Formats: sequence, C-alpha cells, structure tokens
Amino acid sequence: MSTPLPLFFHVDVNNAFLSWEAIYRQTVLGETNDIRYTDAIICGDISKRHGVVLAKSMSAKKYGVKTGEPVVDALKKCPGLKCYEPHMRYYHERSADLMEIFEKYAPVVEQCSVDEAFLDMTGTGKLYGEPVAFAYKLKDEIRDTLGFTVNIGISVNRLLAKMASDFQKPDRVHTLFPEEIKDKMWPLPVEELFFVGKSTAVKLHDLGLHTIGDIATCDLSILKSHFKSHGVVIYEFANGIDNTLGHRGEEEQKGYGNSTTIAYDIKLAEDAYGIIRKLCEKVCARLRADEVQALVLSVEIKDSNLVVRRHQRSLLSPTDVTSECYKTACELFDELWDGSPIRLLGVTANKVTDSGMRQMNLFDMETHDKMKNLDKALDLIRGKYGDGAITRGKI
Ligand SMILES: [Mg+2]
Repeated sequence: MSTPLPLFFHVDVNNAFLSWEAIYRQTVLGETNDIRYTDAIICGDISKRHGVVLAKSMSAKKYGVKTGEPVVDALKKCPGLKCYEPHMRYYHERSADLMEIFEKYAPVVEQCSVDEAFLDMTGTGKLYGEPVAFAYKLKDEIRDTLGFTVNIGISVNRLLAKMASDFQKPDRVHTLFPEEIKDKMWPLPVEELFFVGKSTAVKLHDLGLHTIGDIATCDLSILKSHFKSHGVVIYEFANGIDNTLGHRGEEEQKGYGNSTTIAYDIKLAEDAYGIIRKLCEKVCARLRADEVQALVLSVEIKDSNLVVRRHQRSLLSPTDVTSECYKTACELFDELWDGSPIRLLGVTANKVTDSGMRQMNLFDMETHDKMKNLDKALDLIRGKYGDGAITRGKI
C-alpha cells in the first residue's frame, strides 16, 4: 500500500464576528434587520484601548473601514456606522457547532482560532472521494445547517491551504496545490504573503520585489542579507514550503525564551492565553532541567503588521513554577496588548538564579510547593513519553 499524500483543508468562517452577531440579533433578539447588509462593525469597548474594529460589513468596507483600526477612526470614515459589541459566548457556541461538523468528517481537527481550523484530511480519499467535491459538500452543509458561510482552502500543507482559503470570498472552495503556486500565488503582491508586514513590504518593493513570485525566484542570499532569518522564512513561504507551523519559532539567545510564530491572526485574549500557557510550560521545563529560577519575566507580541512590543516585570520571588509564570505572563500580556491581531507570542525568563532562595510568603508557600511537585511529575511523564503525553487542563 502506498502512503497517501498529505491533504489539508483550512476552513475559515467568512466575516465570523459580523455573521455570528447578525445571527444572534435575528434569532436571539428577534430583530428583522440583517446587520450584514448595513454599515456595521463589531468592536471592543470604545472607552478602553481595546476599542478597535474586530469585523466590518461589506458596505462599511466600502467606506474604507479597516479591521484592527480604532473605532474613532472608523466613525470618521463612515459617520452612520453602527457599532456592536461582540457576544463572545454566543460566538463560541457557534464555533463549537462548526467544530462538531468537522469532527464528524476529519480524522484530525486543529482549531486555530474561534473561526478557523485546519482539517488534516490525509488518507480520507477512500471515505469521501475527490477532495474538492467533498469540500463543496462540507461548505454547503455548514451554510445550510448553521446559517453562515465559510471558505475552504485545500492543499498539501497548512500554509498553502490557508493561503487558498484567503482567495476570493465568501462561500468558496479553492485549491492551491504545489503545481498551482506559479499561477495562483506568484502573481499576488508581496503584501499577501504571510509574515510580510508593512515595513518588510516597503523594503521588498525598494529591492524591486513586487510579487510573491519575485520573492520566490530571487536570489536567497539577497533576502538573507536584508532580512536575515526572516528572509529565509518568506522565501520558503513564497515557494510553498511550510516549515513554521506547529514548530517552535526562533529562540531567544539570552535567557530562557520560547516563542511561537502563528500563521493565523490571534484576535481573542483567551486564544492568546492558551498559547502563553504552552510557552510557559516550555520555558519553565527548561529552567527546571537546568535547576535555575527566573527573576524577570517578559512577554513579546508581534502583531500582523510585524510590529513587536515587549513588556517585562521582576518577580517577587525567583521561580521555575509554570503556574506562577503563566499568571504573571498573562498579566503582562493584558497590559501590553492593544487588541491588534497577533502573529507571534513569546515568553522569556531572564536573570536566572540558582540560589533556590524564595522569599517567604506564608500564604502562597503551600500552593507553591504543591505546584512545584506537580511540575516535577509532569516533567517526568513528558521526559518518558514525550511533550504531548500530558497537558494541563487549567492552571
Ligand atoms: Mg474568518
């Protein structure tokens, strides 16, 4: 028997927050108006920093309203704009409905945000037949049973499937197989490639590289000299090579750092917390392996424009305990994040000490010791059976 070729679907809800809010207002509030067809945005609390546009209707888009921009700017462009705050719990229920449909068909479902998932469909040809025809059935089933539309991208790896789902919207199926890269991906402007943010795009244009094809066919040494390791990443992406997803990103030289590059936008704090938790697991496991504790913790966010921000804090007591680092890392994240879509998250432990000294705190000493023992047990299990052997439910 021959090994089946890898096959991935990337399913992306079209304008998820706006679609779900429209369904919420019609089915729960009983409104007759469909906000999808009005000048409408979904946005965070306008009075706080998180007051950015999370989603916009097609007609709001015509006024130049952009996702991620401050609501005040959007209102200037489109004075009649209606702003709706998101009903996250309801959206999560719709998201769960969607995942339930995926679970029915896909051997492996990797949910990457509330409105996106990768389905590893490798080897399902015998079950469902030709993948494109099956994707159409899946898309229609979602639309007809759940009332919102999706795009499905199909390819041999996640990156290409994700690029494909981003082609013409809504309610579409697209393929981007390696033999189609030249025709379908290379003519696109460099801005369309993952990990090409605003400043990288400007530099690429200055170098005379205007399309993804220009990047793919240029001399790698040129990219390396201008962008260092990031040049290799975009060169590989332009050639359809997916080396990033699911792997650990660049590692900090100083301190004990782990970061994860994400090929999709993280838009919700709770999705970010999940990634921060995994990063803290890794960082703290390394601290414990080296029998050192951290005195300073820092969190790094790179947004979808590749703007990087860092925030750090000294810890009250040196620690290698995952739950303690996680708590501090989430606080740092909350203080740092302005609501922009996130492409990379990093957690770094600095100023390590091996003194083992801990400032006595009668109230947390007992919990600290319990957590220390839990970490030790998890390290043992992972050491024996691998990183994926056990995961924490909640810390
Ligand atoms: Mg989407």
